[in-house]
Amino acid sequence: MEKTFTLRVDLESDKGIRKGLPEFLDLLAKYKMKASFYLVMGGESNIFELLRNRKKLSSSGERKINVWSLRDKARMVLLPKNFVRANKKILKRILKEGHELGVHGWKHRAWTRNLNNIDIQEHILKAKREYVMIFNREPTSFAAPGFNTNKKVLEVLEKSGIKFISDFVGEKPAYYGKMKNIPITICGKDRTPIIEHLISIGKRDDEILKIMKKEIKKRDLASFYIHGLFEARFKRDLLEDIFKSVKRNGIKNKRIIDYCEGL
Ligand SMILES: [Zn+2]
Repeated sequence: MEKTFTLRVDLESDKGIRKGLPEFLDLLAKYKMKASFYLVMGGESNIFELLRNRKKLSSSGERKINVWSLRDKARMVLLPKNFVRANKKILKRILKEGHELGVHGWKHRAWTRNLNNIDIQEHILKAKREYVMIFNREPTSFAAPGFNTNKKVLEVLEKSGIKFISDFVGEKPAYYGKMKNIPITICGKDRTPIIEHLISIGKRDDEILKIMKKEIKKRDLASFYIHGLFEARFKRDLLEDIFKSVKRNGIKNKRIIDYCEGL
């Protein structure tokens, strides 16, 4: 089987989009790489949502490193931002430059901390409606915040026309109903993003590069995920080295929605 590399980028904050996305898109263009972006459609949580969703994270922790200053936190509580509407122009670049743009839920916090108590149908439909309004097309892929999913989620996603998910573990793609699950094959502990995980256990960039090269080379489908807020802002050099190595080794680069091998 042909070796393939996919990269998923989760966008779930204003800073991640404004400060991470433009230069990261430039980097992708430089190497002619295509990535799969997944966007939280509902913006930041407001004070009521913050209070309602205080429960500790029970699902896999997506975040290892604390990237928020006290000032950031205070601003978000007092003045929650609709970061999708506020950054429309930058976000539209994703599609214009040929990348995939899928949905990463409506509100991230409610989904990861309170999935059993939220109206799943409402969350998914609101996200979809917003997506159509802003990007003028239907989303076809969805990645659940915190990989948090269940039967109801799958049912609603399938009904709303989603064709690709990436929420289940594995080395190979598989069908869930009519939807294809393209797994993230290279993850950190508790399915955290691999680079962030390796940093959190004290690895240097050159050590991480070595590990990543090895992990990518040994798989038919090599896939990992990053966040706009962290890796796309602070680890671009490391990502550039990873892209170089993918190219040098003749590994094919695809968007998640283009991956159908073995299905
Ligand atoms: Zn997320």
